[in-house]
Amino acid sequence: MSEKDLMFVRRAIELSLENVKRGGGPFGAVVTKNGKVISESCNQVTLTNDPTAHAEIGAIREAARKLNTFDLSGCSIYISCEPCPMCFGAIYWARIDKVFFAGTRFDAENIGFDDSFIYEEISRPIQERKIEFKQLLREEALEAFRAWEKSENKVEY
Ligand SMILES: [Zn+2]
Repeated sequence: MSEKDLMFVRRAIELSLENVKRGGGPFGAVVTKNGKVISESCNQVTLTNDPTAHAEIGAIREAARKLNTFDLSGCSIYISCEPCPMCFGAIYWARIDKVFFAGTRFDAENIGFDDSFIYEEISRPIQERKIEFKQLLREEALEAFRAWEKSENKVEY
């Protein structure tokens, strides 16, 4: 843990506090590369009516846009709180190297941001999930998969 790591986590915390003052959720995130800030974001769910607008998602999207790549290898993300399952997945999809977070998901749970049920749902068979999942038309969907396999202009990711 370097001085810079502490500074960036503090910045993420500062963003979370500023966001609460604006009426948003108490979460902030910063993406860096080579010790420099690439992007910053805070939770925008209620401010933009976007349920996916978590701080990490905003920061990842902006970093990818600025660096002009979907591959954020070499980047670190600093978060005011441990990521939810959606953001956890996004961090892996983005191939971010390192995650630094301040509050834990249990701290978030204590103030009403409970994502433990999502972790439980993921491991449940689809018939036992709270949201109804139905699988159908697999063969028809596989046409796109076959087309992808054969495609010569695909960009693998
Ligand atoms: Zn999240």
